Amino acid sequence: MQIDLNDLSRRRLGRVNLDPEARPPRVTVAPGDKEISLDWEGALDDAGNLRKCLACGSGHLFRIKTLPSVTPIFVILAFAGTAVSLFGYANNPIILAALILVMVAELIILVFSRTRIVCYRCRSRYANTQIARYHLPYNQQIAEMTVNQTDELSKNTEQLPGADEAIQNPRLESRRERLSRMRIEHAEEDRLEQARNRDSNGRSSRDSTPGGSDDDS
Ligand SMILES: [Zn+2]
Repeated sequence: MQIDLNDLSRRRLGRVNLDPEARPPRVTVAPGDKEISLDWEGALDDAGNLRKCLACGSGHLFRIKTLPSVTPIFVILAFAGTAVSLFGYANNPIILAALILVMVAELIILVFSRTRIVCYRCRSRYANTQIARYHLPYNQQIAEMTVNQTDELSKNTEQLPGADEAIQNPRLESRRERLSRMRIEHAEEDRLEQARNRDSNGRSSRDSTPGGSDDDS
């Protein structure tokens, strides 16, 4: 596993390569041989995939696809190819062959693009590792939530390293619970509303029948 470590203010600390099975509690990064402690407590799931950030302990990670550095060249080539075909040179066999070559190259790049996971809070990046399916692409809402958490954390004392988990998890749970409760309540209201409508419809149709009670006046 290759990790680009950041601190909580997202400043780059350095890159390390490590074996997740060895779970080294401390690593040294190149500039100045700085020692950084990694938090492995609950960091891997049952399948051995990374579940939370080793640097800051946040459980919010997103996946990104990183493309090889040659990609910009092929983007330019693709645009050139489009322009060429627009100006009607595509009948030329050499240009056609070149267009096909560019397409093949782009396909290869797509296949070899690597997926990484990134921590929302500290933006540490994890590469060369298996990525669990539950890590989804970047989500603005989660990003804002983790920024707020980071602000609160920096306001709070930094003496309690386990405190972030304690703050984070109950809020997540309560949020999820609140959502499901609202959904249930909503469904209940809908059902009552429908029942009421059915009742009133039945009554009005009965009322409007000739010889109904309304005609007495
Ligand atoms: Zn992190």
